Amino acid sequence: MCDNVKPLHVRLTFHGDLDFFLRSKSGRSVERALSERTSIKDVIESYGVPHPEVDLILVDGEPAYFSRVVENDAKVDVYPVTADRRTFFPEKRLQVLDVQRFVADGHLGKLVRDLRLLGLDALYHPTAEDRQLLDMATMGNRALLTRDRRLLMHAVVQHGYCLRSQQPLEQTAEVLRRFDLASMLAPFSRCLRCNAPLEPVEKATVLEQLEPLTKLYYNEFRRCAGCGQIYWRGSHFAKLEARVAQLKERL
Ligand SMILES: [Zn+2]
Repeated sequence: MCDNVKPLHVRLTFHGDLDFFLRSKSGRSVERALSERTSIKDVIESYGVPHPEVDLILVDGEPAYFSRVVENDAKVDVYPVTADRRTFFPEKRLQVLDVQRFVADGHLGKLVRDLRLLGLDALYHPTAEDRQLLDMATMGNRALLTRDRRLLMHAVVQHGYCLRSQQPLEQTAEVLRRFDLASMLAPFSRCLRCNAPLEPVEKATVLEQLEPLTKLYYNEFRRCAGCGQIYWRGSHFAKLEARVAQLKERL
């Protein structure tokens, strides 16, 4: 047998909640024979784990980058973004936390509404195709939020997160934790419809657009700088405040 066709043996261990992605639930440690020299990124993603979910790779105990070519008998440990990132190889982390701009795929409308309610910048088009999502993410330096792991594996994706939960409330909490957004929240500062910031507006300026009872009972208004939607503390407001409180409780 020629040397160049000898299989390379590699053992990978997926830590933390990365087992969420593993197709086989038989364990976090897997052994693999590779028929050709392959980057660590490709080996990791072949197990269903998208690269934006990987925060630290150790090869035989030493930190490595995604482009590292796997050597024979390598022992590879793969870690997600977790709280201990500040103490465990803090300089060698592969993801950044401080992304405050997002683009979400078309299945995540409720998550997007929650993020905007909290004042976070989240682009969303229900019919956006994969290519458009990737463009919005890369051109705007936005983190891509999706439940489609194959989309996150695309090479152009710098920042991204795959929602674990299918429940919007828990999904929002996941995003707040993953990107450390607790101190960034500014509820009621962004348009729920179009994502543009809201600006205070004089009642007289919007008077003609108000219903008679709204005119009578309310004096403070905000208007969306993008689509012109007017917001005030009407009967719907208590529901939104309760939602904000629920979301903050989960931080
Ligand atoms: Zn708007």
